[in-house]
Amino acid sequence: MQAMVLHRCGEPLRLEQRPDPQPGPGEVRLRVLACAVCRTDLHVVDGELPQPRLPLVPGHEIVGEVEALGFGVSDLALGQRVGVPWLAHTCGHCRYCGDGHENLCDTPQFTGYSRDGGFATHVVAASAFCLPLAPLALDAVHAAPLLCAGLIGWRCLRAAGDSAMELGLYGFGAAAHLLAQVARHQGRQVYAFTRPGDTDAQALARQLGAHWVGSSDEAPPRPLDAAIIFAPVGALVPAALAAVRKGGRVVCGGIHMSDIPAFPYALLWQERELVSVANLTRADGRGFLREAAAMPLQVHATPYPLAQANAALDDLRAGRVQGAAVLVP
Ligand SMILES: [Zn+2]
Ligand SMILES: [Zn+2]
Repeated sequence: MQAMVLHRCGEPLRLEQRPDPQPGPGEVRLRVLACAVCRTDLHVVDGELPQPRLPLVPGHEIVGEVEALGFGVSDLALGQRVGVPWLAHTCGHCRYCGDGHENLCDTPQFTGYSRDGGFATHVVAASAFCLPLAPLALDAVHAAPLLCAGLIGWRCLRAAGDSAMELGLYGFGAAAHLLAQVARHQGRQVYAFTRPGDTDAQALARQLGAHWVGSSDEAPPRPLDAAIIFAPVGALVPAALAAVRKGGRVVCGGIHMSDIPAFPYALLWQERELVSVANLTRADGRGFLREAAAMPLQVHATPYPLAQANAALDDLRAGRVQGAAVLVP
């Protein structure tokens, strides 16, 4: 197999040949069809998340075809198309696993962070954490961004609440461009906030039906019910709190964010809420894929050859990617 491998944080990935990985009990080996590039991959490569396993193959938005079954696997079949998300394994017995919050498991494993991911031609994954993609009509390149951008966006939308009909999205990249469509499909109005001057992202937001589009330093025309922050910029937290109504909620969707600047208590007062979303549950995955299969979803994806993973990461870091960057082996 071929893989793009991180040896030290802050260094470019290296293209390497490796023996094909063998699936252990309960695992499957997939032939990778596509793997989207997530901002979390950037945080891992740039050393902004603690203690990644090194050397490491990043990538956790994988679409693959089951190529080999490990001992005891009966829930997946050879040739089946599945998705592999960030959540790679949970313990199954901690208090969080026990009460429906496996996303907060005390001893989790994550794809492309604590185990090898999908910036490769092949990957091994636990079959119980693979998500069948059968009802989706999308090809692999366009399905891959659903596996994190879509899923995390979905969990953020649920955290924003069913009553959040006027919804702000801060950062209009891979996650927001999918979530804006889902939110509209559910009858919500989307207010898209981009980096000042990012006319491409603003045009995309308009094309996908955003009700209002502006810069993150602008106030929306009316107070919002909720706002979701996808950009890893702490200064957006007070901005979003200022944009939501009394009792409104601000959801931070990223795994990493720059420090939040001090802000007056008045921005939080009047029962405004500030929450974060971490990881995903398998139920999120199934729920979102069901929703995505039942609506016309436009996925904006820019394919890159696997060997160009570093260029894809650089483009994402520089904000040059419209929608999602996707590696294709
Ligand atoms: Zn657990
Ligand atoms: Zn991700």
